[in-house]
Amino acid sequence: MVWPTPLSVEDYVRGGREVLVPRLVCPDCGEVMTFWGWYERYLRAHGLGSECEVVVRRERCRPCARSHAVLPNFVTKGRLDSAEVIGPALEETQEHGVRPTARRTGVPHTTLRSWLRRFEARAEMLAVVFSRFCVAWGDLAPRIAESGVPAAFAAARAAWATARRRLGKGAGALWRFANSVVGAELLTTNTDLPSTAS
Ligand SMILES: [Zn+2]
Repeated sequence: MVWPTPLSVEDYVRGGREVLVPRLVCPDCGEVMTFWGWYERYLRAHGLGSECEVVVRRERCRPCARSHAVLPNFVTKGRLDSAEVIGPALEETQEHGVRPTARRTGVPHTTLRSWLRRFEARAEMLAVVFSRFCVAWGDLAPRIAESGVPAAFAAARAAWATARRRLGKGAGALWRFANSVVGAELLTTNTDLPSTAS
């Protein structure tokens, strides 16, 4: 699960286990969950210097007897790098290619290529999720002329525009927002469509 936190990455990391994560509702039954400890993972993000350890809240639904990780919206499932590193780098590859983007961003080109392959494989599905978000929030589904990766980017921007019309600055930055909408699964191998948050 994703928590669309307003905290900066630096503040979240600095806060550690003092960060006030809200109690979310169980995605399966709708009960408010209880806190269920923390776990640690590594993160590479702008402003952190090198990779560092972050703590992630776990919450548990008593009726379902299941616990869920509550990822801050800059964390992507299965990847070390933050959504704000991955998203803009992917966008840049469309204009400048993988190697020049890798050189400029400092992301190893093999890593960047693997992100791009994964994103390409998911692009169509992600475009659907972002389009559904627009509809769920009362807008028309965006008309997108492109297909593949450009379509996913266009749909993400359309969903972000919808969210900003409703929430203003509360929608947050593009790639953190986009990562929230897709359940932090920008680059996973999971083929289930993440449910559209509304
Ligand atoms: Zn439940």
